[in-house]
Amino acid sequence: MQVTGRCFCEDIEYEAEIDPALVGVCHCRDCQVMSGSAFRMVGAIDPSTLRFTRGQPTTFDKTADSGGIRRMLFCGRCGTHLFALPGNDSATPYASLRVSTSDQFDRLPPKWEVYCCSKVSWLEPLDGAVQCDRMPPSLDA
Ligand SMILES: [Zn+2]
Ligand SMILES: [Zn+2]
Repeated sequence: MQVTGRCFCEDIEYEAEIDPALVGVCHCRDCQVMSGSAFRMVGAIDPSTLRFTRGQPTTFDKTADSGGIRRMLFCGRCGTHLFALPGNDSATPYASLRVSTSDQFDRLPPKWEVYCCSKVSWLEPLDGAVQCDRMPPSLDA
């Protein structure tokens, strides 16, 4: 599915191709902190389909659970997180879209819940989503 989206201040706009089967929510501690919420909606995309149609993101390199470095892409003005690029350790070929920034997010219900090992205790499992303690092999958040 083709998705389009933008950051809060609209300095940055993007388009990309997403596989709706690879959309999930991530309960890892990094996503909780960086989203300011209980979890973050994430979706695996082929990085070759990602195109910025307005502006360019700021980057921050974080160390992933795998030990590899993942580059976070966000708006340098309003701070909205947009993407994470594949890790330099090749643990995954996917980039990760922060799905709620897309125009299509309501049509992309989560199929996976990952990093349930750090899920908040008061949240029930989501209907229709597979719960994983950490990361299934085909995804990375
Ligand atoms: Zn912005
Ligand atoms: Zn995460």
